[in-house]
Amino acid sequence: MQFDIMLDKYNRDINYLRVSITDRCNLRCTYCRPKEGISLKGHEDILSYEEILRIVSQAVKMGLVKIRLTGGEPLVRRGFVEFAAALKKIEGLQDISLTTNGIYLDRYAQAIYKAGITRINISLDSLKKEKYFAITGGGNLDDALRGIAAAEKAGFSPIKINTVAINGFNDDEVLNFAELAWKKPLQIRFIEVMPISDVNFGHPEKFLPMRQMFDIISSKYSLELSSEHKHRLDGPARIFKIRGGQGEIGFINPVSEHFCATCNRLRLTADGKLRACLLKETEIDLRDALKNRCDDEELARLICRAILSKPAGHDLNCTDRSLKKCHRDMSGIGG
Ligand code: SAM
Repeated sequence: MQFDIMLDKYNRDINYLRVSITDRCNLRCTYCRPKEGISLKGHEDILSYEEILRIVSQAVKMGLVKIRLTGGEPLVRRGFVEFAAALKKIEGLQDISLTTNGIYLDRYAQAIYKAGITRINISLDSLKKEKYFAITGGGNLDDALRGIAAAEKAGFSPIKINTVAINGFNDDEVLNFAELAWKKPLQIRFIEVMPISDVNFGHPEKFLPMRQMFDIISSKYSLELSSEHKHRLDGPARIFKIRGGQGEIGFINPVSEHFCATCNRLRLTADGKLRACLLKETEIDLRDALKNRCDDEELARLICRAILSKPAGHDLNCTDRSLKKCHRDMSGIGG
């Protein structure tokens, strides 16, 4: 089967796949994993690198152009660099990026860059040691900062910093993050916390509106949405340049401003399920099909089925921020 583009029922071109390559993580971010812990998949339950390569190759033939590797923490999986290099060889795949907590970047940044991944998102929710330790369930801020420095040194561009915005936790650091974007060519992206699974941070009082962050930053810096940025394709983020500074500030508001109407993504979970919406439970089991030695035609059919199952939108909103009971948490789905 040969396709040029993959359109869903609502005429959206589904050309972006986020791949969770492992559900394991070296951190325990409180908004990502439930307090009581999660049951991790065994090695035999997750897709092998070969299986992921086959799925991506098939999807590229159907119109996929962009993927993001995520998890869990991608860099805890052995053989990551070689896997990245193999992905890079898939003809037609135009863009490969990585989301990581950065802890192991000091060790791997150069090799990953050489393997052909040049765009990176690094998660960082606090610039204060004790708070970073608390939110990540034991992480060391210095490791993450060393990771960011290693990414800069290796030449990654852009380097985006994912900062989950939580009222009462890091609202007092909004200006410090802005200062970082002013000093360095980093894009700081404030992400609204999503009330998924059994996380602690789904409560309405933890919600930090973009307007509030914008006003805090504007008290010191001038934010401008330049015409270049207005027209730039940057997924769901609203990006502002800091006047006189080197970096940018982005706001991603999956709860208060759904971007479902332009959603172009599918998600592949570590255990091989294709998920059409982060917040809907419908999943198509590709791993099972691969284990049963499906041919390319069957694989293509299953990918199409996932695309056609994509809903018009999710139902998170600001007034009802009750916890969303997905049967998986973010680390399982791949954030
Ligand atoms: N381990 C990697 C990392 O820390 O970047 C990749 C996986 S992590 C699940 C990917 C992203 O999802 C992170 O930037 C994280 O902050 C975000 N995330 C996880 N749970 C979230 C939630 N409940 N609301 C908003 N963002 C969340």
